[in-house]
Amino acid sequence: MTRYEYDEEASRRMHMDVVHEIDDRPTPVARWVDAMRRLNSIDDPLARSVLALHRDCGSGNGTCDGGDDDEPVARRVDWGCETTAVIAHHFGIEYPAGSPAPE
Ligand SMILES: [Zn+2]
Repeated sequence: MTRYEYDEEASRRMHMDVVHEIDDRPTPVARWVDAMRRLNSIDDPLARSVLALHRDCGSGNGTCDGGDDDEPVARRVDWGCETTAVIAHHFGIEYPAGSPAPE
């Protein structure tokens, strides 16, 4: 279910109608926090060290991030990078399910 919310403040500021999509499912931020919590449950020292190196991946400032475009947490729909994904998979940790990737 996708709902829409009229953003009065932004609409006034930008002199145009600003409408945000509201997703009833867990927000990307909540899912990301949950994902980080799951990763934190790993107690393998090597895995934790590698994850620490890749903690910022996906944010635009991480080891694996080539571009300079920031990816806000609110838009994240998956692990920050392949390395993190591989480790998560190895330990049977799935990224929390939620809305499909935004277009
Ligand atoms: Zn990485």
